[in-house]
Amino acid sequence: MTEANVPRQPQAFALWRETQYTAARSPLGGIYYVVAWLLTWGLSEEPIALIVPGIVGAIVFSLLLLLRRLHRLPLAQTDAAQKRWLNLHWCLILITALSWGLAYAFVQQHPQLQSSSLIATLITIAFSTALAFNYAMRLRRAALTMLLIYLPGLLSLALDWREQYALLIVLGVYLSYLLLILRRSNREYLNTLALELQLLNQQERLEKLSRTDSLTQLGNRYHFNSLFPVMVANAQRHLQPLSLMLLDIDFFKRVNDQHGHAAGDSCLSDFAERMRQNFRRDSDTLLRLGGEEFGILMPNTSLEQARLMAEQFRQELEREGFTVSGASLPLTTSLGVGCYDGQRDRNAEAFYKRVDDALYQAKANGRNRVELA
Ligand code: GH3
Ligand code: MG
Ligand code: MG
Repeated sequence: MTEANVPRQPQAFALWRETQYTAARSPLGGIYYVVAWLLTWGLSEEPIALIVPGIVGAIVFSLLLLLRRLHRLPLAQTDAAQKRWLNLHWCLILITALSWGLAYAFVQQHPQLQSSSLIATLITIAFSTALAFNYAMRLRRAALTMLLIYLPGLLSLALDWREQYALLIVLGVYLSYLLLILRRSNREYLNTLALELQLLNQQERLEKLSRTDSLTQLGNRYHFNSLFPVMVANAQRHLQPLSLMLLDIDFFKRVNDQHGHAAGDSCLSDFAERMRQNFRRDSDTLLRLGGEEFGILMPNTSLEQARLMAEQFRQELEREGFTVSGASLPLTTSLGVGCYDGQRDRNAEAFYKRVDDALYQAKANGRNRVELA
């Protein structure tokens, strides 16, 4: 998924982020459960005597690791698919945690595993600490996982509390500390999430701003420059017509000279509004290419269709003109229209040049007219 299609809606973004983090963090945890069990068993006094529980443990943790690895993210990034994936994956995490919790209790109880008891205790502490940081996305589930890792061992120690009360107290205190850390990690995660979303939205707004002409709210030259080659390439690939219309207002300098720059500005934004009303197809991109020059990119539009629309627009403008400070102001535009032709146009620039020449021709032939490229 590229940055462009990261969801921007807060809930969808939170779900997406959680899914990504869970998928990235889970496999590593899975490996360490296998390693932890192999260490606990292998470093015990008599691993050979414990061959059956040793191998059963190794198989269980390897199987769980395998399941975590095989459980890939859904291809369709819908909310429902991501929720289903998360729920199932959390089941695997919880089962692994419970398996370790039981293994830890087993180590506490088994006389031949006494020398591994310290190793298992350290590993239990390490796992639950890692959890508090890695799975802070889901507070309750992470807390439950922590309890599943911890509680079987604590209960088993409690059975022998006269001997084990010191360890029991220390582990209990540490568990409460971890739960507090988990809550803080969760708050920090949520804050970062909000910041990240804010940043993405700001980035999108800035990007849009950089592509928009502030006076007319049409796309600007920068937007045209980035879009035009892509549209030409698409037209070429799909063998679909792409028309380009260039418009330049006639004698606009006079408007400024006679009515002032502010009136000129108001004419330009009215002109843009009129373009919006005439060229309404969603696929059309309306642009202000500079000064009093405008452009329209029209995918899936033949030369004849584009010419008809250009002529209609020209006639309407000639007929209605503009109103400036209550007085009507006649205003016309010259237009160049062309349709991309793969045989003739070497590239996007050549196509643009052809249409620009047509616009120049319209000016040279007396203005207020449409010329075909
Ligand atoms: P032609 O028919 O040959 O196109 O004549 P013209 O006067 O429209 O063309 P010219 O290129 O000589 O002048 C364009 C004028 O457009 C010059 C400038 O004053 C005006 N103009 C360009 N940008 C703006 C703008 O943002 N606001 C205003 N008010 N005027 C602008
Ligand atoms: Mg002009
Ligand atoms: Mg001009």
